Amino acid sequence: MMQDTFRHKGLRKKLVEEIKAKGIKNPKVLEAIGKVPRHLFMDSSFLEFAYQDKAFPIGSGQTISQPYTVAFQTELLKPNENEKVLEIGTGSGYQACVLLETGARVYSVERQKKLFDKASRLLPGIGYRPKLFYGDGYAGLPTFAPFDKILITASVSKIPQALLSQLNTGGTLVAPVGSENIQVMQSICKSGPEEYEIQHHGTFRFVPMLSNTAND
Ligand code: SAH
Repeated sequence: MMQDTFRHKGLRKKLVEEIKAKGIKNPKVLEAIGKVPRHLFMDSSFLEFAYQDKAFPIGSGQTISQPYTVAFQTELLKPNENEKVLEIGTGSGYQACVLLETGARVYSVERQKKLFDKASRLLPGIGYRPKLFYGDGYAGLPTFAPFDKILITASVSKIPQALLSQLNTGGTLVAPVGSENIQVMQSICKSGPEEYEIQHHGTFRFVPMLSNTAND
């Protein structure tokens, strides 16, 4: 089992200062980034990069998002204690753990079996217990709906209607929306049963959200 050492904690403190300097303000979010041992989510060959503010490969053609991006999306969600949050795209599980550290009850869906299996093994071993599901995020989790917040961590050309319908009134959905090459971060507040207020928050580049489940 890999350790979370004094050195790792020091590097994490620096990372928190870095994303703070880049504009992240919410103390809960900064605290969460300061707590989750990101190096344990990466392959050993990338360990030295764990506390740089960069995205890195996690296998199966996927990446662990840049810490700034994780913090930015989490801040847009305006997390509150005990809220039910649905994440689409578990990937390494890092974002799910950051959400747990903000006090959320986390449900996360991943379409790639290998990544789902890996996260399902890793997370409980380091003390994190989000509810993880192997499935197609386009369908959401109707059995567990409604959610207070929904976070999509892959890019979409438009917000899936199924997800909007699983959002509580007063809830917020955050997602990068656009083409495969560039997306605009949107935060969508569900102000009424069929009413949405959309805000735009700059451009990003995520891997695309794909349909159906995969075993590769
Ligand atoms: N949140 C992750 C990073 C996500 S990368 C982390 O913290 O590490 C995007 C993830 O979305 C990838 O793991 C990809 O396999 C997954 N994904 C893509 N399409 C999906 C879909 N339809 N349903 C669920 N997950 C999907």
